[in-house]
Amino acid sequence: MQEVHRALLELQEIDEEIDRAEAALAAFSPRLAELEAPVTGLDREAAALREQVATMRQEARRLERAAEQKRERLRQYEERLQRARNAREEAAARTEVDLVRRAVDADEQEALQLLDQIKRSELKLDELEKQLQKARAEVEPKRQALLAERDDAELTLGALRERRHNQEVRLDPEAARLYERARSGKRRRVLAALTPDGACGVCFNVLPIQQQVEVRTGRTLFRCEACGTILYPSE
Ligand SMILES: [Zn+2]
Repeated sequence: MQEVHRALLELQEIDEEIDRAEAALAAFSPRLAELEAPVTGLDREAAALREQVATMRQEARRLERAAEQKRERLRQYEERLQRARNAREEAAARTEVDLVRRAVDADEQEALQLLDQIKRSELKLDELEKQLQKARAEVEPKRQALLAERDDAELTLGALRERRHNQEVRLDPEAARLYERARSGKRRRVLAALTPDGACGVCFNVLPIQQQVEVRTGRTLFRCEACGTILYPSE
């Protein structure tokens, strides 16, 4: 085997290690998400409830304003009732007073119910926030450990990439280009030995005799015509 084959094989080995390191690093995202799932769920629940409470408070203020306006009208009708000059005017004014009073009562009733609901929601929110704190406290050490592990995995990957770079700059540029082209097809193996019976070590396509000879002499870098793998002579 020629020096260039050995160098390319080493590069392939580093690339395989890089692939494994990248996969290991990528696996941290779902692991972190899974770990944080209880916190995320509670957080979302609390946020939704907080928004509900804000909407209810707004609605309660609107009801309060409406009740205030109706109470003002009620005062006006009550004055009119006092000033009634005969039974007919009195009856008409009383009907209006009764109507508005019922409307005020209804608004106030609704506001009270709403305030009650707000209170219950706020209690539930307090409870949720306590649960959230507890869940966060439980998850935090595991999260920190996982993050530290991820930092290590990042360092490993960084070191591998540096090793790869060093290996690559030592290569003959033509061989490096050929390697990159062969690798670009996302194939698992870029290089393989020619089998003893003259076939590609990856797809087992048998090479014409002349090409087998070329590979065996090892003077040129040769790619399998069927699958693109770089072939080197087996020892
Ligand atoms: Zn092949």
